[in-house]
Amino acid sequence: MHDILQSQRQAFRANPNPPLAVRLNTLDRLSRMIADNVDLICKTISEDFGHRSGVETRLADVAALISEIKHTRAHLKKWMAVERRPVALQFKPAHNEVRYQPKGVVGIISPWNYPFQLAISPLIAALAAGNRAMIKPSELTPRTSELTKTLLGRIFDEDEVAVITGGPEVAQEFSMLDFDHLLFTGSTSVGRLVMQAAAKNLTPVTLELGGKSPVIIDYDYPLKTAAERILSGKLLNAGQTCIAPDYILAPRAALDDTVRELTRVCRRFYPEIHDNDDYTAIISERHFERLSALVDDAREKGAEVIEIYPEEAEKNVNTRKMPPKLVTNVKPDMRIMQEEIFGPLLPLVPYDTLDNAMDFVADRPHPLALYVFSDNKMVVERVSNELLAGGMSVNDTLMHITQNDLPFGGIGESGIGAYHGRAGFLAFSHAKSIFRQSKINGRAMLFPPYGKSIERILGFLS
Ligand code: NAD
Repeated sequence: MHDILQSQRQAFRANPNPPLAVRLNTLDRLSRMIADNVDLICKTISEDFGHRSGVETRLADVAALISEIKHTRAHLKKWMAVERRPVALQFKPAHNEVRYQPKGVVGIISPWNYPFQLAISPLIAALAAGNRAMIKPSELTPRTSELTKTLLGRIFDEDEVAVITGGPEVAQEFSMLDFDHLLFTGSTSVGRLVMQAAAKNLTPVTLELGGKSPVIIDYDYPLKTAAERILSGKLLNAGQTCIAPDYILAPRAALDDTVRELTRVCRRFYPEIHDNDDYTAIISERHFERLSALVDDAREKGAEVIEIYPEEAEKNVNTRKMPPKLVTNVKPDMRIMQEEIFGPLLPLVPYDTLDNAMDFVADRPHPLALYVFSDNKMVVERVSNELLAGGMSVNDTLMHITQNDLPFGGIGESGIGAYHGRAGFLAFSHAKSIFRQSKINGRAMLFPPYGKSIERILGFLS
């Protein structure tokens, strides 16, 4: 990987600012490659998961990328344009501008949950900004990582885009490379290690991390609508989504009705689990056991675990399909209320007043996503204004990530920086400030030896 970095760096030096036409062509190749291989991508991801819903792969791993490329191609000319900036009176008639330059070689480390999308989406932004890129995809989806390497290898030379496969040791070495920018998507704990490794080279980082993303349901909000939109976000990829609703804050008086509605909607969405192609499996035995342990821990500490599919409980052990469960009577010391769940378990926490619900969120690390269901403008305004979170959707879940014009990223423990659309272009570009002196100027008045003229200028400036 050190040699590849060197060859990418040399190639970048030879071509340090690719013109628009070259970048558009690169993005076009990428888009065609994805469109031509949809079935293979779906099949491969499904093999890695044990089962991954084909529709979910086409939505989240394929359509999302095609849409992002389309958006990027449509706006790239404008994003790349040199921006003229005003010049203060005393410096006129000089000229100020900001020029967006590619940083060089970008490193991308990606996780397993959307294994194709999360490797390629940062690549779109990196290439749009004119960079070379090296990708280290997750070892937990080895077939998809190999496929990503093969498909990208067909359309890119290694000194343009390279994929490095391997486990955590490879990832660790990869994170220590002297990149010009490093984008990491994964857990908060590994994100800390990545930032430490990058600090040695002063490599700037974008950290796309995880955490517990809360949902607040307001008093009087229609529960059927809330349940539908919460569950469709929660159970996409069986809850293995960074911005999946992690827990619900429900009005105390409506708690039982909320549980009833969630149960009803869940059974309508997924009449069964085991033989249902729409329902995705848990990525590995280890992850399945971790989720089971969260349930056991909660139960032992007094929570009530509501089995939405009691008839399926024993069936799914070999397939790693975990039936969704609701959990009530949770306490802060339960693991399910401390760790990011990342699976089809949904705790509900009752609240009395909006202030209580907002305090509950504010007392914890800033979430990656925040959801509020309310038709009350004041409630929406307060939650939008006062609570910090990477992003939010109002009266829906997940939808903010699908908006090409919205930056996507976390804050605090849920991440640093953002990408998608123009935000991605900016993350991988250096905004270089350029001052161009004019032929006629007062510059000589600042030259030493300092005399009366400098005093006049200081008087004018202060
Ligand atoms: P992870 O942190 O275990 O692994 C992510 C990547 O880091 C893998 O490619 C892995 O090989 C690599 N890695 C492992 N050890 C490393 C080290 N010491 N140094 C450098 N790299 C190392 O995460 P995961 O389990 O694959 O993914 C799940 C997590 O990712 C969840 O927390 C989820 O919320 C988060 N996530 C965030 C986003 C987002 O956009 N913010 C998207 C998807 C997932």
